[in-house]
Amino acid sequence: MTTLFISDLHLEAERPEIGEQFLDFLSGEARQADALYILGDLFETWVGDDDPNPHYAQMKVAIRALVDSGVPVFFMHGNRDFVIGAKFAGETGVVILDDPHPIEMFGRQVLLSHGDAFCIDDIEYQRARAMTRDPQWQAMMLAKPLQERLDFAEQSRLQSEQHKEQSSQQIMDVNQGAIVEIFRETGVAILLHGHTHRPAVHKFDLGERTVTRIVLGDWYEQGSVVRWDEQGPRLEAMPR
Ligand code: MN
Repeated sequence: MTTLFISDLHLEAERPEIGEQFLDFLSGEARQADALYILGDLFETWVGDDDPNPHYAQMKVAIRALVDSGVPVFFMHGNRDFVIGAKFAGETGVVILDDPHPIEMFGRQVLLSHGDAFCIDDIEYQRARAMTRDPQWQAMMLAKPLQERLDFAEQSRLQSEQHKEQSSQQIMDVNQGAIVEIFRETGVAILLHGHTHRPAVHKFDLGERTVTRIVLGDWYEQGSVVRWDEQGPRLEAMPR
């Protein structure tokens, strides 16, 4: 049996082809899975569970159908959908996980994360992250009218685009020191994350042992998935 891991779909009505592929994935391959883990940035923007966005509503119904078919679905926040909350979880049936979250896969210790917490070279990003992940800030934000939140989200998105253009690729990638630290701290053999949109399997020596960091890709041009069965994890692209 296979467990599936995905992240960084960045679903939005403006990119319907991603949504179509996700719907096919949910009603197809995912139905046979042991479990589905979504490691953040499922949605391009999420301003609150009360947003009636019809594109998102369609995705929620499809996730619910998968859960109702007997496949557990786990969701971890990304930096775009970090205010997904209890209402969404109730509607879809997903279980929301903390970041990072340890699991065991066929006897191996695995740490799941969205991945942005390891990008510590990007000081500006980490400052914004600290603010937006603060429960008090989130409560203040969620108390604002929907339109105000949508405007704020659009503004943050433009700022983030600009920041990405101005920052080097290296600054926006994970910091290797932070990666080594999390492996040492947790003792896991494998770290699985998304966020950087640089799908790869990095094996490296910690000195006392060899560890693996698996990075999921985004879904902009094609899907990206880790399929994990008794043979081990396989990072694969899903062309459309
Ligand atoms: Mn992200």
